[in-house]
Amino acid sequence: MKYCIKKANQHQIDNYRHAACVVKGGRLVNVGVNTNKKGRLIDPLYEEKGCHAELMALCSLSEEQVRGSVLYVAGWSKGNNIVNSKPCPICQQYIKKFDLKAVYYSLPNGEYEELII
Ligand SMILES: [Zn+2]
Repeated sequence: MKYCIKKANQHQIDNYRHAACVVKGGRLVNVGVNTNKKGRLIDPLYEEKGCHAELMALCSLSEEQVRGSVLYVAGWSKGNNIVNSKPCPICQQYIKKFDLKAVYYSLPNGEYEELII
């Protein structure tokens, strides 16, 4: 989770900075960050929304690679505060397509919470 929070903070984008890390068996498999590109180009669920970090972390992996892994999501505000990174309803639907072991997201107090899907 710490690594994911750091990754999100290093991300260069002029708005909220989010990062999502896929970890399987203690190994980092992939990292995704949010972009301003249209998410629907990758998955029609996203319609007019941008590419969220969760989508970017998962879309380049196969279901087999993702199966049984843990997803961490962290984000920072413009003002450099950690924000609640609970995946949005669309990301939650997208995440459901994969067989993840658990999903954790950052909270403003620096703690994190498990997403109940
Ligand atoms: Zn989202």
